[in-house]
Amino acid sequence: MLGAVSRLVLYTGLVSLPVVLAALLDVEPKRFASELGKHCALMAFVILILQFVMAARIQWIERAFGFDILIRFHKRMAVFAGFLLLAHPLLLAAGGGGWRLLVGLDLPWVIWLGKATLLILLLNICLSSFQRSFGVKFEKWRLGHDIGGPLIIAMAFTQSWVVGHDLRPAGMKALWVVALVSAICLFVYHVLVRPRRLKRQAYRVIDVQPETEDVWTVRMSPPEGRPIYRYLPGQFHFVTFYRNRNLPVEEHHWTISSSPTEEDYVSSTIKASGDFTSTMGRTKVGDRAAVHGAFGRFSYVLHPEENDLVFVAGGIGITPLMSMLRHMRDTQDTRSVLLVYANREKSRIVFRKELSEIEAGGHPRLKVVHVLSRPNEGWQGETGHVDGEKIERLCGEDLGEKTFYVCGPPPMLKAVVAALKNMHVRDKRIRVEIFSFLE
Ligand SMILES: Cc1cc2nc3c(=O)[nH]c(=O)nc-3n(C[C@H](O)[C@H](O)[C@H](O)COP(=O)(O)OP(=O)(O)OC[C@H]3O[C@@H](n4cnc5c(N)ncnc54)[C@H](O)[C@@H]3O)c2cc1C
Repeated sequence: MLGAVSRLVLYTGLVSLPVVLAALLDVEPKRFASELGKHCALMAFVILILQFVMAARIQWIERAFGFDILIRFHKRMAVFAGFLLLAHPLLLAAGGGGWRLLVGLDLPWVIWLGKATLLILLLNICLSSFQRSFGVKFEKWRLGHDIGGPLIIAMAFTQSWVVGHDLRPAGMKALWVVALVSAICLFVYHVLVRPRRLKRQAYRVIDVQPETEDVWTVRMSPPEGRPIYRYLPGQFHFVTFYRNRNLPVEEHHWTISSSPTEEDYVSSTIKASGDFTSTMGRTKVGDRAAVHGAFGRFSYVLHPEENDLVFVAGGIGITPLMSMLRHMRDTQDTRSVLLVYANREKSRIVFRKELSEIEAGGHPRLKVVHVLSRPNEGWQGETGHVDGEKIERLCGEDLGEKTFYVCGPPPMLKAVVAALKNMHVRDKRIRVEIFSFLE
């Protein structure tokens, strides 16, 4: 908690730094609106620079918040920077610059550069927010984002350098150059250097196990003599597979389904849910995998004081919970866990056998309840969807002492969280992992 607060204070300090510096270094009398307009642009520039910091997967920052929160913050700050940059010319015009600034055609090139920067930023924000609705493929969007981000920074830097009155003092110039160079270095490291380093130290696929008709577990071991990177049960990693030349090379994030107690390999259990994942069955032993981990805060290990856990999983959402159950099994944990696992049909249940073995083993004190939405004939267990009624019936009355870990498709997740909140379960007792950063 303290770590997160200190990083937020640092962020706010950095965003306000140019405004404070500009005020300290320049003492001419100003008009309020035009000053505010300039400050909007100064803050927007630093926010855009810090967008690179947040996207660079720096573990020191990620560890304090979790990757999902960081990405959501990144998106919100892009929108905020867009608002600041929209306000900038309006306030300048109102503060004495004249409305010609907004509507005139006969303007210096540097003003047009500012307008173009704003346009590209707004386009970037729209595409990122509505990528799916626009039908843009993820890989194409990412390429556009990787080009658009540095372009916006380069244009904003040039514009403010040429026209910005506040950048005249040497201290401000130095701040701008340091900010630009830092963003470029981080970007080059994130997009070029680290992927090459991870490829050079690639893991090797040692097993591809079909779990159901469209789910596979891929096990990967580190190169000879290297340890597996450290992770907590429930965390996820980014993996790029290098396989047969005809198969796509893309980086994707998947939960680590193995437990840190399994020392020879890491595994991910992957469902065919799109064009890339449907090629998973063609992954072969001996293929290479660049692995970048570990990320996320969805782990019971971070909350050792909690003894009464309820895991709610939908479909492939079982993976982080499985990693935690394997960890509890191997560390002989005695806490109580109720797993409510929703699937469409019996044949879709992943890890069915291993779950019953863990249940029989007594570590943890596990009870598994399968819920099928399309039950096969003769199914004796629970049917339908996981809702408030089922949770209350299966968990008993006293929900206040339990902690819920929920992972599954977004609609299921939303419904379960809403039901828990209806039953007055406190927010801090509900932990979720959403299998999408777009929701
Ligand atoms: C924290 C987290 C953990 C996850 N754990 C698992 C898991 O254990 N098992 C599992 O099967 N799935 C998991 N997923 C979901 C998995 O990442 C997606 O199903 C997979 O990336 C879809 O890829 P696709 O190209 O086959 O699907 P597509 O249909 O092409 O894409 C569907 C959506 O997946 C996302 N996506 C596609 N390509 C990429 C990419 N290169 N990088 C990032 N996102 C992309 C986009 O949102 C896209 O709109 C997890 C997701 C998250 C966020």
